[in-house]
Amino acid sequence: MVFMKNGNRLLYNSIMRVQCKRYRYIYLFFPAIACLFVYLILPVHRPTIAEEHLKAGLAGINRQIEHYKVREWKYIVIHHSATKSGNAAEFDKYHRETRHWKNGLGYHFVVGNGNGSGKGEIEIGNRWVKQLSGAHVGINKYNRYGIGICMVGNFNESYPSRAQMASLVVLVQYLQKQYNIPAENILMHKDCKTTECPGDKFPFDYVFAQTL
Ligand SMILES: [Zn+2]
Repeated sequence: MVFMKNGNRLLYNSIMRVQCKRYRYIYLFFPAIACLFVYLILPVHRPTIAEEHLKAGLAGINRQIEHYKVREWKYIVIHHSATKSGNAAEFDKYHRETRHWKNGLGYHFVVGNGNGSGKGEIEIGNRWVKQLSGAHVGINKYNRYGIGICMVGNFNESYPSRAQMASLVVLVQYLQKQYNIPAENILMHKDCKTTECPGDKFPFDYVFAQTL
């Protein structure tokens, strides 16, 4: 009788062990589902591709600042490329080969529109890396003291994309902060010289409203 009782207990224990093994992880299942649910419904900010480009661009600018002596900048001058597509390398080639500028790309930064470079991608030009005067305005004062930003696109024909504008605003604010550039010195090319650049559809007010 005692043996039977022990035998039953042994059988019971071995069944329970098997069962416990099988369901050992079940207690993790519900918290995992709960976490997944919270992750999906919470308005967690997940970076878009444009934001990734922007982050990478700003990290690149920071790296350049660490390595090169930064000159005294007083203005930021905004341009459009007056082309549907393009990137820093293409404009650099054009400025070197057609304009015969030995320092190449006349702008310090190029902000992409998704055709030729990423949407809102910030490319850093050679003249920023080496802290050289720009060749973007056609007036010495602004080339010497002005940071040239080229937005890829023709804004006589279409509007810049939201991603491109977001990158521009962040870049402008960043440069303002770094070099103490007042809002009234954020200019369009056409504020400096008779030109259509950056096009009559370029929403300058939107940029200006977000300057520091
Ligand atoms: Zn221009």
